[in-house]
Amino acid sequence: MNVLVINCGSSSLKYQLINSDTEDVLAKGLCERIGIDGRLVYQKAGLDKEITECAMPTHKEAIQFVLDALINEKTGAIKSLKEVDAIGHRVVHGGEKFAASAVITDEMIAAVKECNDLAPLHNPANLIGIDVCSELMPGVPQVGVFDTAFHQTMPAKAYLYGLPIEYYKKYKVRRYGFHGTSHSFVSKRAVEFLGLDKDNSKVIVCHLGNGSSISAVKNGKCVDTTMGLTPLEGVVMGTRSGNIDPAIVEFIAKKENLDIAGVMNVLNKKSGLQGMSGVGSDMRDIRAAIADGNEDAKNAYDVLCYGIAKFVGGYVAAMNGVDAIVFTAGIGENVGQLRKDVCSYFGYLGVEIDDKANDTFSEEIVISTPASKVKVAVIPTNEELAICRDTVALVK
Ligand code: ADP
Repeated sequence: MNVLVINCGSSSLKYQLINSDTEDVLAKGLCERIGIDGRLVYQKAGLDKEITECAMPTHKEAIQFVLDALINEKTGAIKSLKEVDAIGHRVVHGGEKFAASAVITDEMIAAVKECNDLAPLHNPANLIGIDVCSELMPGVPQVGVFDTAFHQTMPAKAYLYGLPIEYYKKYKVRRYGFHGTSHSFVSKRAVEFLGLDKDNSKVIVCHLGNGSSISAVKNGKCVDTTMGLTPLEGVVMGTRSGNIDPAIVEFIAKKENLDIAGVMNVLNKKSGLQGMSGVGSDMRDIRAAIADGNEDAKNAYDVLCYGIAKFVGGYVAAMNGVDAIVFTAGIGENVGQLRKDVCSYFGYLGVEIDDKANDTFSEEIVISTPASKVKVAVIPTNEELAICRDTVALVK
């Protein structure tokens, strides 16, 4: 079965066409600058990337360009759109309504719309992608895969905030957590790869990318995670602050003469590694600056490692132990030094890192020594494949 996986943002759209039987990616790419001018990046497996500037006033043109590229006579991955058997969409926020992926129907769309308040930038864009696909490929089954769904198993003590309870009851203000597709995929794979017993396992997943979140997964179910009502909570990220004293919002608003939207913009887009270092949000730039002796960059890096270590320690307490700590996403998969620096806080857990394994670049790898009391591993995330698998499971 061929599954088209779509991740629709407000001005961009990422896609992959996956053969679900072999799990091979047949073609992938993205549309950028939708509503501004428009650029299509398309890559058929085994061929070079093609970049085409083309006008994309709306997502409709963007998706049409993707479909045209997929069936292009020379470089198309399929001959006709009839070969697309199903479409899987990433949907950011499923609120409390969705604890699992769901087939897209009118009722399902209405339920997603009710969650739009919780993700006003993301959900409407995801819904546009669904709408346009229904229009351009009528009859092809579609599935929504939610970033929040995996975390719906958290107990109330993990998801409630210390706020007046009517805010939860009236507005559903609570911790939801994000990157759920990744935490689910990586924690499941960790259990298999490390030979753990799924029904008796305690795994901590550190998803460290531009956005970062950590989750505690006990017996295959999420029991806590660092992101909250929105993806702003948790560890320091590329440009997001992560946890701060909420009173800082008022303090900075007064000092800098900003309104709430202005402060939120600072917390989401001008903070984190970028704001702390003044160098940039990219870990490669931070590491280069540290090598040049930049003290702000070093502090940003140290705050990140220390923050990750504190959350992991908290989750060891939450689960009364841990069998495996797993690193994933751009930073988690690529920056061995950071993995080592984070794990340097876990001597008390009996964690021992094998430097040679940690320096080896490989897809999936155990980086702890055989004597280590807790296994530490790198497992690359693959959200598109996870969306493809959920889609197939629901439409077959
Ligand atoms: P996103 O949250 O956008 O999906 P990614 O998971 O792709 O992000 O992670 C992006 C982060 O990973 C950036 O901070 C980038 O610097 C870092 N990263 C990716 N590759 C490397 C690498 N080879 N060395 C160091 N950092 C890397």
